[in-house]
Amino acid sequence: MDQATLQIVRAVEAGATTMKGIVDATGLSRLKVERALNALEKQKLLIRDGQGFRVAGRQAPPPPSRQCGSCNACCDILEVAAVDKPVNQLCRHWQTGTGCTIYDRRPQMCRSFVCAWLQGHLDDDWFPEKAGLIVHFSQDAVNVTVDDHCPDRWREEPYFSKLSEWSLNGIKRIGNRGYATLVVSGPDKFLLLGRTIVPDPTLFGTAFLPLTSDTFRFWKAKSPEHLQRLHARVAEIERIRQEFGSCAIPENEDDDPQPPYRPALLRLSNHASA
Ligand code: SF4
Ligand code: SF4
Repeated sequence: MDQATLQIVRAVEAGATTMKGIVDATGLSRLKVERALNALEKQKLLIRDGQGFRVAGRQAPPPPSRQCGSCNACCDILEVAAVDKPVNQLCRHWQTGTGCTIYDRRPQMCRSFVCAWLQGHLDDDWFPEKAGLIVHFSQDAVNVTVDDHCPDRWREEPYFSKLSEWSLNGIKRIGNRGYATLVVSGPDKFLLLGRTIVPDPTLFGTAFLPLTSDTFRFWKAKSPEHLQRLHARVAEIERIRQEFGSCAIPENEDDDPQPPYRPALLRLSNHASA
């Protein structure tokens, strides 16, 4: 098995079930992924079914015991590019009383989509039709999409506490496939760091440091190099904390620290430099 094919098998094993998921997870071209998937299917190493791709020999996830019932939130709230459906606009293929009018030829995303409530990860407060929130998992994130009729619902209870808890779990798993908790509400995007809300997270990432057990100081990166510098300073703060028992934390969210970080941090903390 060549390197690319191996990468694809690993991506599917890690939970990528759609073509887009595999392309995103591997960084390979769509053509390359398609060719490798066809070869894997021919060799019966991979199976494609209604729930997407899975590695042969692996059981498909058990069918959800819950039913969508009256809910059509994902046909309303989520973006489905394959049918030109923007976020928070009922799909033109949805008809009251009939449901999806193109059910047999609906896009792969619609076939494979299962929200976290339907999977049984959340209690009935989270039934999407009632909650106005759709929670779904991707390879490295818990994604929360909010109905534009209740844009702040995710900040309310019991939702916010649960999302904060998931966010902390995702942060603790960093280094062991951590995940981010992201909220999209209309045009606004948020990253959750425990109970700390990061508005408009940048594509380059966010460096953060715990202040309490569930709150964080954060700095949003403007470039990969900026993120590296922020991470290096966070590491220095941790070292100083270990060495002196405390370290002052720079408050400016937008600063761009330059090495060497230690002297400035020691000055800020009123610690004598070694
Ligand atoms: S949001 Fe969940 S429960 Fe509602 S229709 Fe979609 S998959 Fe079913
Ligand atoms: S194509 Fe069908 S399943 Fe997909 S969003 Fe539209 S109505 Fe829903």
